[in-house]
Amino acid sequence: MIPVQGYSGKRVIVLGLGRSGLATARALRAGGADALCWDDNEAARDRAADEGFTLHKLTGPDAFQDVAAFITSPGIPHLYPAPNPHIARAMAAGVPVDNDIGLFFRSFATRDWDRFDTSPRVIAITGSNGKSTTSALLHHVLDQAGHRTQLAGNIGRGVLDIDPAEDGDIVVLELSSYQTELARALTPDIAVFTNLSPDHLDRHGGMGGYFAAKARLFTQGAPDRAIIGVDEPEGVYLSNQLSVAAEDDRVIRISSQKLSGPGWYVTARKGFLSESRKGRQVTSIDLRPIAGLPGAHNHQNAACAYAAARTLGLAPRVIEAGFSSFQGLPHRSQIVGEANGVRFVNDSKATNVDSAAKALAAFANIRWIAGGLGKEGGLGPLAQATGSVRKAYYIGRSAAEFALELPGLDHAVCETMDRAVAQAVAEADPGDTILLAPAAASFDQYDSFEKRGEDFMAEAAKYL
Ligand code: ADP
Repeated sequence: MIPVQGYSGKRVIVLGLGRSGLATARALRAGGADALCWDDNEAARDRAADEGFTLHKLTGPDAFQDVAAFITSPGIPHLYPAPNPHIARAMAAGVPVDNDIGLFFRSFATRDWDRFDTSPRVIAITGSNGKSTTSALLHHVLDQAGHRTQLAGNIGRGVLDIDPAEDGDIVVLELSSYQTELARALTPDIAVFTNLSPDHLDRHGGMGGYFAAKARLFTQGAPDRAIIGVDEPEGVYLSNQLSVAAEDDRVIRISSQKLSGPGWYVTARKGFLSESRKGRQVTSIDLRPIAGLPGAHNHQNAACAYAAARTLGLAPRVIEAGFSSFQGLPHRSQIVGEANGVRFVNDSKATNVDSAAKALAAFANIRWIAGGLGKEGGLGPLAQATGSVRKAYYIGRSAAEFALELPGLDHAVCETMDRAVAQAVAEADPGDTILLAPAAASFDQYDSFEKRGEDFMAEAAKYL
């Protein structure tokens, strides 16, 4: 655990007592703060009370008296689409709002670091898609190379749950836009921006707010190195704003296109990763045989992780060796198995249009299981991405809408996973891939995308 610094003897409210909220309360207590806890859910409050935390009703005239900070959980809106009423009252009372990420950055470094030979470093990874894969891949590469490393944030442990740093430690943090938007301190040594496509727009007041939330990681944090995907205008803009001159190699640009110039670039094109610096090619790696990283989207993730590892001084061949033993993450282009020449792939995490389009581009002869709870903005870009789809099998609430929005695509409205898998199996030929890449949230039929992916794998298992 990282004891929170700067609030000793002070009153700090923690709203939201899920896994990260409770961890935050513990870390505040360890740092000497008076953690005042609240959750609208009674069971969550009981759990906090069982650990001896003070439950603090957020109503009444004195609720915010002498409160130094209000710590909230990522799922709770503080501005858009409308402020949570508790947060609105805290703001009206003049209390600053922060989250566990902000507390982490103000607390991670300690006096003990003076005796270290190599200062611990934090690498923070954000972007619309590929954050988890890039974070897990980088963590794996560092681990395989013999570094002490911890993975936390939106993946792995809560940030305040990690172990205090030892000499030379490297912390890899996956950060969502909710987390970067609010954190009052945001100072990674290296920051990574994978890509940008519309998501969570209601929580950020639109696309501009969404991009601004992610850009804070670079503009507030002033990292030593900025690794930025430049395949969208926002990435180009951000990388240019941060560069002092074209040859400024504090910025590493990542792209699926050829890039040239005096700066530092890592590209992933046609299955090959290439690094160039100061106008010279440094290395080229063939990513196509790496089973844990299928498709161009994973090659983009590999390029981001590669760049981060290079800034930490790892040699290209060491990074390549780490890539080769990476198993991939569950529910992201996860190869489930093969029967009678038909492969099953679980990409339940493809909850938005862009990630589903990327999954469709990674395979051929696809029998595509899609649908669920559709997101704002429609299916637009998917229309261009279905070239490799032989037939679609729609499930969930948006099944009929998918059928309407993607005319010309052979399809069946199956509604449930068992029916979709059964029909896809019955119609598949050897060489086909049955791919779950829903382009929709799961909450109409499942508690989470993980549960949806598990259901798909259980159905697939009947045929394996
Ligand atoms: P995140 O943590 O940003 O949600 P993940 O690594 O969990 O990212 O991947 C989420 C989804 O996006 C998966 O469906 C995955 O196949 C897809 N994906 C992964 N990397 C990329 C990328 N670089 N670009 C677009 N889609 C991606």
